[in-house]
Amino acid sequence: MEKCRSDVNCDEGRRLGCQTFCCRLLVRLDPDERAPGDGITPAKGFVDKDPDSGLCVNFDPATHRCRIWERRPRVCREYSCNPDPLLQVVLRVGFSSLARLLRASAETKIPREAHRFIPHIDEHGKEPNNKYADKSRKKI
Ligand code: SF4
Repeated sequence: MEKCRSDVNCDEGRRLGCQTFCCRLLVRLDPDERAPGDGITPAKGFVDKDPDSGLCVNFDPATHRCRIWERRPRVCREYSCNPDPLLQVVLRVGFSSLARLLRASAETKIPREAHRFIPHIDEHGKEPNNKYADKSRKKI
């Protein structure tokens, strides 16, 4: 998969219908990102999930934002949902479980010209600089 910018504007994504799909995925930590152990508990290589919601523990359900956005793990910085074919399904059918999403993906054919993409956060406060942006998409 193409490596690309990850500064996806998640607020805009939610307005378009994303239901925090990425923050439900397994968030692996690189070895140098592992929190120092207490000498007893082995360091873990991934971020914990909330057992009820299945979302990352750093996800704030009240604001739908990452509580540690400025220091979020590397994988969260490098991953962009835009090239992921599942994004197109999430934006149309929502998310209830990964199994249902994969099933819906197998059953849903979305033509390329109908794809929608999440804009990137612009570093300079101007229009989103997004090579994936769908220019024909109307603002909602
Ligand atoms: S660390 Fe933040 S961006 Fe990464 S999965 Fe958790 S809530 Fe989402």
